[in-house]
Amino acid sequence: MKNIIFIAPPAAGKGTQSELLVNEYGYNHISTGDLLRAKQNDGSDLGNYIKNLLSEGKLVDDDIVTTLLSEKLSSINGPFILDGYPRTINQANTLNDVLKELNLSIEAVIYLNVDSDTAMKRALGRLTCPKCNKIYNKYSHDKMPMNENICDDCNVELMGRSDDNEESFKIRFDTYLNNTKPLLDYYKSHNLLVIIDKVSTPNETFEEVKKVII
Ligand code: AMP
Repeated sequence: MKNIIFIAPPAAGKGTQSELLVNEYGYNHISTGDLLRAKQNDGSDLGNYIKNLLSEGKLVDDDIVTTLLSEKLSSINGPFILDGYPRTINQANTLNDVLKELNLSIEAVIYLNVDSDTAMKRALGRLTCPKCNKIYNKYSHDKMPMNENICDDCNVELMGRSDDNEESFKIRFDTYLNNTKPLLDYYKSHNLLVIIDKVSTPNETFEEVKKVII
């Protein structure tokens, strides 16, 4: 199983594809967004600082994110998915150093090509279980919970993300276009880039992802 990076606009389905890879192949899912969201509620000054940036849709400082990432990468065994890191060329260079130090490597970078209208709709409908992190969507037939607003597995109330509103989404999408999209050329030049273009249902996308990782 290959170690991979997902690159995609916000709410394009990186988390959902990661969840499927975890369940089917036992991948370690490393989402810097999840690591930051876990940190934002610890009551510390750093937690509050992160919370504000997240809800405004702004990038968190490189040193904070990279520290969380390195700690996580050092603690896992087996294949891993990077979801949400790197988000800039600078972070891609830092990642090379971190991986080298840990004797790890990336074997494929998967780009999920989703247009901004589709991504915005997914963001505005997204709901997450606070207990198991499973992702639902109130506007998508195959991602709705069985009972409105309740996790199918944990029976607890689902929550929306503070940054899944129109205003923050637009900032996140612009940041993606300006800072993250240039990574496609970067990874293309390293012969690692795989583009998945027709992203429709999660299962159809997953069939394409499977072809890349095995
Ligand atoms: P995500 O869950 O990947 O959509 O990330 C949610 C938010 O966490 C982003 O909008 C940023 O505010 C922050 N974040 C996640 N990953 C990074 C990163 N690699 N660099 C800077 N900020 C990040």
